Amino acid sequence: MATTFFTADHDIFRKSFRDFVDKELAPHADEWERAELFPREVFPRMGKLVYLGLSYPEELGGGGGDWWYNAVFAEELVRSRSAGLNMSLLVQTDMATPVINAIGTREQKQEFLVPAIRGEKIAALGISEPDAGSDVASIRTTARRVGDEYVANGAKTFITNGTRADFITLAVRTGAEGHGGVSLLLVPTDVKGFRVARKLAKVGNHASDTAELAFEDCRVPARYLLGEENQGFTYIMRNFQGERLVAAVGAVAGARHDLDEAIAYAAQRQAFGRPILRFQVWRHELVQLLTEVEAGRWLTYRAVDLFVRREDAVKEISMAKLFCGELACRVADRCLQLHGGYGYMDEYPISRRWRDIRLITIGGGTSEIMREILSKRLGLG
Ligand SMILES: Cc1cc2nc3c(=O)[nH]c(=O)nc-3n(C[C@H](O)[C@H](O)[C@H](O)COP(=O)(O)OP(=O)(O)OC[C@H]3O[C@@H](n4cnc5c(N)ncnc54)[C@H](O)[C@@H]3O)c2cc1C
Repeated sequence: MATTFFTADHDIFRKSFRDFVDKELAPHADEWERAELFPREVFPRMGKLVYLGLSYPEELGGGGGDWWYNAVFAEELVRSRSAGLNMSLLVQTDMATPVINAIGTREQKQEFLVPAIRGEKIAALGISEPDAGSDVASIRTTARRVGDEYVANGAKTFITNGTRADFITLAVRTGAEGHGGVSLLLVPTDVKGFRVARKLAKVGNHASDTAELAFEDCRVPARYLLGEENQGFTYIMRNFQGERLVAAVGAVAGARHDLDEAIAYAAQRQAFGRPILRFQVWRHELVQLLTEVEAGRWLTYRAVDLFVRREDAVKEISMAKLFCGELACRVADRCLQLHGGYGYMDEYPISRRWRDIRLITIGGGTSEIMREILSKRLGLG
């Protein structure tokens, strides 16, 4: 894929990773979807190939690349046809661990990040709670310092990888109400007082597990505090940037994939003596959507470029998540429509895609929250 952003090395990686996805992930998509989980062994297999730490430092076992490698990773993962698998992997690489790399101590990196990069430990990000999702500053799970431990009490919900994570990057309340009282703790799941309350059944993304977690006098060594106490809200908001960006990259790549498949279908499916593609109404709609996808892709690349250069990209990332998320849902819906009745059948990939993509405007910050952030950034109040 020739652009001004991707180098020859990125392209070499794209080719080899695409090959891996096509040979080792995509063939299992249906089986893992039915099983409502993919095998744990996928993590160490991908870790061994350094796919789980592309832009993490080489001394920690990462690839030492820039974030464009993460973008290639998210774009090519779309070919697995398993949004659940992809979400689970992206939580590992781009949601639960970047903050450890950014602010973790040397010991924390060795104990949590290095095994996550190797795929030996599964990571989860625990922010959302039954009574606080969008409003992160309202979380209620507390962590009280007692000697050289924190004692955590509360509940988290909707946690991806939650049923089998080895550790959780957990948002807790260590201080007063509001954003100033939030901290981040690294919580190994074998500590006393932690339990998986239940696995949640959901609309789509079936190959990934989503859980409700309980913390009952859960004792966590104080050395697992990430960064400074009561600075967690700022760390979370920074961490959200990579999460939202990777979501936008995946969304727009997925939309393009849907359109390519819909076009191939419309070229061969006949109605009234001609291929569907020869109806002007569909040609025009496809062209319109392709145009919007191209616009979304460049908006996303602009955000990645700023992110890679460590410039303020909150506006561009929020716009990319908002625009590409909403677009991807619309594209999937229109592509399903173009497939007619077959589009509603399980055996056609678009039906699963339509279900799975619905999450994109909710997870990692809803479209409404993106509009709120943008309202402030653009000076609209
Ligand atoms: C499959 C799945 C996986 C997830 N994985 C994780 C995970 O791994 N870790 C994690 O921590 N969380 C995870 N989440 C949670 C996700 O991030 C939240 O669902 C999301 O942030 C929204 O929070 P909420 O569900 O509590 O909705 P609410 O905050 O209750 O919002 C409900 C509605 O109100 C709207 N709303 C809220 N505030 C405003 C406002 N100020 N202005 C206008 N509208 C507003 C929202 O946009 C939404 O439409 C996951 C969710 C799902 C469904």
